[in-house]
Amino acid sequence: MERVAGCTVLHVDMDAFFASVEVRRRPELAGTPVIVGGSGNRGVVTSATYEARRYGVHAAMPVGRALRLCPTATVLPGDMALYTEVSRSVMALFRSITPLVEPLSLDEAFLDVAGSGRRLGDAVEIGEHIRARVFDEQGITCSVGVAGTKFVAKLASTSAKPDGMRVVRPAEVMGFLHPLPVGALWGVGPKTEETLLRLGLRTVGDLAHVPARTLQRALGAAAGGHLHELAWGRDPRRVVPDEPERSTGAEETFSTDVDDPAVIHRELLHLSERTAGRLRSMGCLTRTVTIKVRFADFATITRSRTLGTPTDVGKDLYDTSRALYDALGLDRARIRLVGVRAERLVDADETPQQLELGAREHGRREAELAADRAARRFGAGAVRPATLLHRSGRPGGTPR
Ligand SMILES: [Mg+2]
Repeated sequence: MERVAGCTVLHVDMDAFFASVEVRRRPELAGTPVIVGGSGNRGVVTSATYEARRYGVHAAMPVGRALRLCPTATVLPGDMALYTEVSRSVMALFRSITPLVEPLSLDEAFLDVAGSGRRLGDAVEIGEHIRARVFDEQGITCSVGVAGTKFVAKLASTSAKPDGMRVVRPAEVMGFLHPLPVGALWGVGPKTEETLLRLGLRTVGDLAHVPARTLQRALGAAAGGHLHELAWGRDPRRVVPDEPERSTGAEETFSTDVDDPAVIHRELLHLSERTAGRLRSMGCLTRTVTIKVRFADFATITRSRTLGTPTDVGKDLYDTSRALYDALGLDRARIRLVGVRAERLVDADETPQQLELGAREHGRREAELAADRAARRFGAGAVRPATLLHRSGRPGGTPR
């Protein structure tokens, strides 16, 4: 087995992601120039196969110009829902290998495999394993960079494209980095690049061999110091895992369209209580409440509000969703469906704010927890009317 001590960061990047997904479902386009981009001459290229890139086509180029360079290209409008779904599967594959997955966009992520155990081998073997599985499961290729730091891993995957893998061992970092143009460094945009070129600094090696002070005078203390460190292969940034967004909620389509605000309010209360119950059973608090309103003509709007304190209390969700609804000022518009969603969830046991809740709110939470227990014993139907009764203070009446 190859030894790659100190090399545990992978950067995985799908090759020509959107275009590759399109080719996967239109196999007759394999091996041909394909461009995904806005239609008409005003759209821009968002992705292009390597067959199109050979003609000079690249992302962010106007489609009209791309077609002049490569008149035989097939231009497709793009299907974000499909790309998002493929992205989700690929990220799930990464997370099955290590919890330390930091997505940078739909089609690339850093992984730190230092703690991944021996089952899959070292970082190089894990990189090959990922490449094989992405191809088997998704029918698209990716490139992998393996290094001791994030920015070198990213540069390594770029140099391996397409459909390749590059390992840069610690002893090889300077030899790999120093010949690269300064613009290749992560964080060097066109403006910084121009400044560096004016100073006669063309390669990363040039950056490494001027005093840090020179870079700091030209770019500012923080940016100059950071670039000097990068030029010597030093990058303290860790792989920061980004949990997939969790959310939960409930919605209700009325049997006939409704225009009575009291009925809407009552439904929002039901949905808030159901959503809060789900949060409690997940052990989560929510930071953002979103309501959805679908009108009789199927037009649909959503409105969100972020709470000062995360909560799993139905009363809090109701107060917020009712305020959001009332702020719409709908004035008896005919409504087909309403929904309540809890988004940006956090783990309840990792959120100290909960302990700071005032006595009144705490009592409310206790009451709802008691209702959860009763619901488990007697069924949800037995509990909800009682909870509503308690909440509104008027049997059968409209909640406040
Ligand atoms: Mg990519």
